[in-house]
Amino acid sequence: MEKIYMIPVNDAYDSDCECPLCSLRDKAEKNYLDYYLGPSLMEPDTRKITNKTGFCPVHMGMLNNSEAGRLGLGLMLHTHLKDMDAEVTSKLEQSVPQASSGFLKGKDYKAKLTACADLIDKRVATCPICDNINDAMGHYIDVIIWMFKHDSAFKPKLQNKTCCLPHTSLLLRAATNLSQSDAAEFVTILLNNSKETFKVLEDDVEWFTLKFDYRNKDKPWGNSKNAIQRSMRFLSSDRRDFDEQRAK
Ligand SMILES: [Zn+2]
Ligand SMILES: [Zn+2]
Repeated sequence: MEKIYMIPVNDAYDSDCECPLCSLRDKAEKNYLDYYLGPSLMEPDTRKITNKTGFCPVHMGMLNNSEAGRLGLGLMLHTHLKDMDAEVTSKLEQSVPQASSGFLKGKDYKAKLTACADLIDKRVATCPICDNINDAMGHYIDVIIWMFKHDSAFKPKLQNKTCCLPHTSLLLRAATNLSQSDAAEFVTILLNNSKETFKVLEDDVEWFTLKFDYRNKDKPWGNSKNAIQRSMRFLSSDRRDFDEQRAK
């Protein structure tokens, strides 16, 4: 197994993040954002891809929020707009139904409208940053499964660190490649972790709501102040930094 992937996985499991896979994903995402905001956006090989794909809405927003790479972004968007225009506009033109519904006239207009909408949705969602992140996460998941089987020092880390629900789902899918007895042990670890996390979050969110009762006004917040944000991250694996100040 490649050390290059083992080190960041161990680091993530050793850190005090809420989900090690979210933390690995966020780091990979930052690297790829920096990459696409850097000189690469001017290089012909990268431009050939990004001119065609653009970026998904989430990563467009992140690229826009950065101060860097404005010229590269502008050049990429100019070619990307032209590429989208050529395909989407001609598909839209072909999709306009005949105004009157005579015999043989435009009876398949509904299918054409759906096909055009599908094309737009597919192209809007296409994103090389998402593709790169998914590739990296695939490697990290392989490493986690490998270390679970071969690295005795890793198992306690796995037991001590819960994952958000979307990443628990990724690990479950990977566990289908384990033997039944290995999967039994691996999934029991996931189960215990998620049971514990559900309990903690349910209690903390409940106390958050009870603090609105005037009788509890002067009682301590405990861990409830950011219970909403922690619950949202556990449920969604969301990339956004939920504003923890809002809890007050
Ligand atoms: Zn996660
Ligand atoms: Zn994306």
